[in-house]
Amino acid sequence: MINIIDGKKISADIKEEIRLEVEKLVEGGKRAPGLAVIIVGENAASKVYVNSKVKTCSALGIYSEKYNLDTAVTEVKLLKLIEELNNKEEIDGILVQLPLPKHIDEDKVIEAIKPNKDVDGFHPKNLGKLVIGKSGFKSCTPYGIMELLKRYKIDLNGKDVVIIGRSNIVGKPLSIMLTNENATVTLCHSRTKNLSEKTINADIVVVAIGKEKFLTEDMVKDGSVVIDVGINRNSLGKLCGDVDFENVSKKTSLITPVPGGVGPMTIAMLMKNTVKSRIEKI
Ligand code: NAP
Repeated sequence: MINIIDGKKISADIKEEIRLEVEKLVEGGKRAPGLAVIIVGENAASKVYVNSKVKTCSALGIYSEKYNLDTAVTEVKLLKLIEELNNKEEIDGILVQLPLPKHIDEDKVIEAIKPNKDVDGFHPKNLGKLVIGKSGFKSCTPYGIMELLKRYKIDLNGKDVVIIGRSNIVGKPLSIMLTNENATVTLCHSRTKNLSEKTINADIVVVAIGKEKFLTEDMVKDGSVVIDVGINRNSLGKLCGDVDFENVSKKTSLITPVPGGVGPMTIAMLMKNTVKSRIEKI
């Protein structure tokens, strides 16, 4: 199919660009960028994500440290580790894999990370910078979506974009990134009325809610661009997104598949943020 946005390829291109950038840095006698990844507990999906982040670091020449903390670890202990990493010379980025166990306050943990090491872009200071259009760390998934749109030369100027899902890690920051690029954004959620009336008129629809086949072909206009952020398992256990891909893709000019669309971009942008953090300190 020709109307597919190939996130796997774009992610591989970005990672190769990063690998070369790191190589140049090290050849020039500079220290390689460093990422610390903290995981608390035994969440299987989190383990997969963290291992793949550490593996990608190694493939790109980025130094990494992985901290496996017990589910019962206290908030105080976790905050102490973050403080140590905040002050550690060879660490440029700190990532705490979410979700955290219930006895730990996620907001407190995110705010404990030094904003100039917050490569996940979740710290209120970085989100604030994004809102006022200043350079900070951008959340990796929406940043990855912006990069896909850019590399596929999708003009955002004056375009009507509908985002479904208003989470702090995807929908909200993406709405600001798109606004900063002159798109007109409608941010929808579970209380939105007449959702189809909004999506049917959109030039670009982004779905990030976590419900299989939520976006159907009657909800999109011919020639639109559809970005599927969802990660779900269907009744056969197969990975799928929030879009009824088979039918929606017949109408779209470009569409991201799941897997192989937005997913691979998130990790590439994390690596990009880590290198940015290192370079800004030189
Ligand atoms: P989330 O925190 O789970 O929130 C879901 C959002 O969807 C909420 O804003 C909710 O509205 C909205 N929503 C739920 N049902 C709806 C409905 N029927 N109509 C309209 N809106 C509805 O979201 P998230 O963490 O951003 O995750 C969303 C999906 O993206 C999940 O499948 C997740 O696994 C995936 N994801 C993928 C990546 C990646 O790298 N590819 C990264 C992050 C997340 P309310 O606010 O009103 O409750």
